[in-house]
Amino acid sequence: MTIQLHNTATRRKEVFEPLDPDNVRMYVCGPTVYDRAHLGNARPVLVFDVLFRLLRHVYGEDAVTYVRNFTDVDDKINATALARKEAGASGTLEELVAERSDETIEWYHADMDALGALRPTKEPRATQYIAQMVAMIEDLIGKGFAYAKDGHVLFRVRRYDKYGALSGRSVDDMIAGARVEVAPYKEDPMDFVLWKPSDDELPGWDSPWGRGRPGWHIECSAMAHDLLGDTFDIHGGGNDLQFPHHENEIAQSKCAGHGFARFWMHNEMLQVEGKKMSKSLGNFFTVRDLLDQGVPGEVIRFVMLSTHYRKPMDWTEKKRAEAEKTLRKWYRIVGLAGGSEPDPVTKNALADDLNTPEAITRLHQLANAGDVNSLRFGLELLGLWSGSVPVWASVPGFHDGEMGAVFDLLRMRDAARRNKDFVEADRIRDGLQRAGVKVVDLPSGPEPEKLPSFDVDELARVWGGE
Ligand code: AMP
Ligand code: ZN
Repeated sequence: MTIQLHNTATRRKEVFEPLDPDNVRMYVCGPTVYDRAHLGNARPVLVFDVLFRLLRHVYGEDAVTYVRNFTDVDDKINATALARKEAGASGTLEELVAERSDETIEWYHADMDALGALRPTKEPRATQYIAQMVAMIEDLIGKGFAYAKDGHVLFRVRRYDKYGALSGRSVDDMIAGARVEVAPYKEDPMDFVLWKPSDDELPGWDSPWGRGRPGWHIECSAMAHDLLGDTFDIHGGGNDLQFPHHENEIAQSKCAGHGFARFWMHNEMLQVEGKKMSKSLGNFFTVRDLLDQGVPGEVIRFVMLSTHYRKPMDWTEKKRAEAEKTLRKWYRIVGLAGGSEPDPVTKNALADDLNTPEAITRLHQLANAGDVNSLRFGLELLGLWSGSVPVWASVPGFHDGEMGAVFDLLRMRDAARRNKDFVEADRIRDGLQRAGVKVVDLPSGPEPEKLPSFDVDELARVWGGE
């Protein structure tokens, strides 16, 4: 099977051939761990989770290394510790920072698990790779690409002539558009920080330039190199990271002599009801907020995957309701599946630059045709099947198989009615009655009820066409 991926670096869809099919390597920029993940943060997690699953399907479960980092050194984390200290919390600032990072990582795992995202192969914390970052910075200074001044180390952007190539901008355009900071320790306003001093009470590490901490960009360059080697296959993240974060990662890694990433992939942003998600608009919510309101993780995932990752996506209440209805219907019939039957059409949709909306269109066809084994395969590949029908989608009192038979009969009844085959429609209606299943048609769809006269053998006979 040929996988094609859109490479931001070339602005084209390209055939994806891994460097080593026995070890396909992917790096995705992970969260800064200062607070709960908001709904937008879940988009890259789910997009790259589908890619991870596709790569595992094609190259083998053990043949893919997926690294996603935790940025656990940052002003925003420090700010939470300072605020807690001011509010009277006990412990040093360093301890409060560590506590915050630890608890945020736990939340992140719980929330992303609930969305059906597989844990990446490796989840390095930036603070565990300080030595590698220091070594890389020393190397860049030695090669003339970086300089130390007043406890800071800065990268000389103008020394790297391909700077801006990823996002297609010139250095001068970037200066005009970006919020570049002028500072006394900088030779050029475009230069960015590799290392900076740290206050005594806040997390810091000894280095040749004094006690300090790394800049954000060098973290990813150093961790990707340490864990994935000189050159690796895919680097991903949200579109907002293209500039400056990914431009800076490329500049550092290339100047250090690394091959770095071959394919760059970026997901577009998420909005809510047509507007940018923001605290001031009151439409800001976390993944946990939705889960607590009773929105199933599968539904959040389904809505996310209904839009192609390179298009902006809009989270709406209407989409949530429709996704819940669709998934409930699919889960109820898929309980009947004896196994999972690979479906080339679903696979090809995902292999075409992760066309998840097309894969979902295919699942609608499979569901309408009652091809439950292929439907289950598609749900598995999209990460929407965890081995059994989720409780929220099941009907109390019915086992998955019984429920599958009932809903498959209801699907056949609807098809018969559409085809004006009233003999078949009546056979199913009478058969369900004989088997002791009462069906109430609600606006949300038919709801079956098990009567005391329920007879599973009779149900099987009706489903078998008798
Ligand atoms: P951060 O913790 O802000 O560095 O973000 C973690 C990841 O979430 C990055 O890959 C961002 O690009 C991504 N991200 C942040 N906001 C959104 C959004 N509204 N839509 C999609 N992705 C986002
Ligand atoms: Zn990064």
